[in-house]
Amino acid sequence: MSKSCVKDIAVIGGGAAALAFAAMTSGRRVTLLEAGARVGKKLLATGNGKCNLTGLSVSAADFNAPEKAGFFLEKFPPERAIEFFESLGLCTRVTGGRVYPYSECASSVLDTLMAAAKERGAEMLTRREVRSVKREHDGFVLDVILTDDKGAETGRERLTANAVVLATGSGASGGRDSVSLYTALGHTARAFAPSLVPLKTDRESVKGLNGVRVKCAAELCGVRAEGEILFRDYGISGIAAMDLSALYARGRAKKGESIVLDLMPERTLAEVEARIAAQTDRSAERVLKGMFHSRVAERIAERAGQPLDATPDAKALAAVIKAYSLTLYGCADADRAQVMSGGLSLDEFDECLRSRIVPDAYAMGEALDVDGLCGGCNLQWAWSSAYAVSCALGK
Ligand SMILES: Cc1cc2nc3c(=O)[nH]c(=O)nc-3n(C[C@H](O)[C@H](O)[C@H](O)COP(=O)(O)OP(=O)(O)OC[C@H]3O[C@@H](n4cnc5c(N)ncnc54)[C@H](O)[C@@H]3O)c2cc1C
Repeated sequence: MSKSCVKDIAVIGGGAAALAFAAMTSGRRVTLLEAGARVGKKLLATGNGKCNLTGLSVSAADFNAPEKAGFFLEKFPPERAIEFFESLGLCTRVTGGRVYPYSECASSVLDTLMAAAKERGAEMLTRREVRSVKREHDGFVLDVILTDDKGAETGRERLTANAVVLATGSGASGGRDSVSLYTALGHTARAFAPSLVPLKTDRESVKGLNGVRVKCAAELCGVRAEGEILFRDYGISGIAAMDLSALYARGRAKKGESIVLDLMPERTLAEVEARIAAQTDRSAERVLKGMFHSRVAERIAERAGQPLDATPDAKALAAVIKAYSLTLYGCADADRAQVMSGGLSLDEFDECLRSRIVPDAYAMGEALDVDGLCGGCNLQWAWSSAYAVSCALGK
């Protein structure tokens, strides 16, 4: 049976951006409509369950659209995000420039946002999937599907609202892509592509290395990313690989290009060569296994054409260690991605993220065509974009 109710501000989605918006906005009646059984589900999975909620060095350059994202970031930078969370009672800690809740539990961030949103009088309705948004008279009419535990439809609701905010995120990691709710109203969107996702490479380069981790630098199309690489049987994962995947998602890197790993980034080629050359009284196996995981050592020797039981050829081995190359074949699918690159064109929204096409319609978070690197950038975007909308709609 179809019911009808009236809302002031209807926020479609109950994720990071929606909750922050509800926690920031006073003087208006905010209703979150979340398709899932609970709000903030993705938030709980962030930062391996610890929630890297921002980073001290997050800057415009970390995003696909530096100038556009930079405008919003300047108004609500990482320091403001930390102040905001601390003002809500969340104790934070900084580890290596990355900001986490002191508890290192993502649930602390979710609990804090939910409590603050409730204090502001926000209503959080779950198991409500918005299927269409129509502009009618001076407001909007939303068609909402009510679902049970298994996602099966149990009813329908017709809802009217004075203003609508799209905060539906993306299809990354089991999420739902709902930007069509706004493209149906005349907005345009760039197709979503997985980003911050493992990379597929030629199998030969990673043969026998599945599960091995190395701290290294990785370069693709002249961009260098430092951090961990985790070898998989299909390619590479880990922070450095995830950051480089953004180049592929944004179309800057193409299949067939080389990813070059520097397996000893803190030493020069000459230093690596000298270290090996100083040990010619030992076998290559002994020297390499003193430097790397045994399986990595074996692959380096194989690449360098170096028999393991022979005297090490310092020049050949150092060359492979400083430039172990793999061929890019593509990336894993959206289910393995932390974010999607793509979404609603930012050009169609003003400096408050108010639609230039549909009066009283707003958007925030990952549904917009803004994606950042690892290190708290994407949640920072959720907070910065929520702040912009809150400035426009709050009193
Ligand atoms: C595994 C993982 C780890 C991550 N770790 C980090 C990290 O440590 N730091 C960081 O900065 N970023 C991280 N991210 C990225 C970050 O989680 C997202 O960028 C952020 O959650 C986006 O916020 P959002 O509010 O735009 O979307 P979401 O948080 O995805 O929320 C969108 C919500 O809208 C709902 N929805 C969609 N369509 C509809 C509809 N039609 N009707 C009703 N509801 C709908 C969805 O169910 C969802 O709950 C991670 C992502 C993943 C997947």
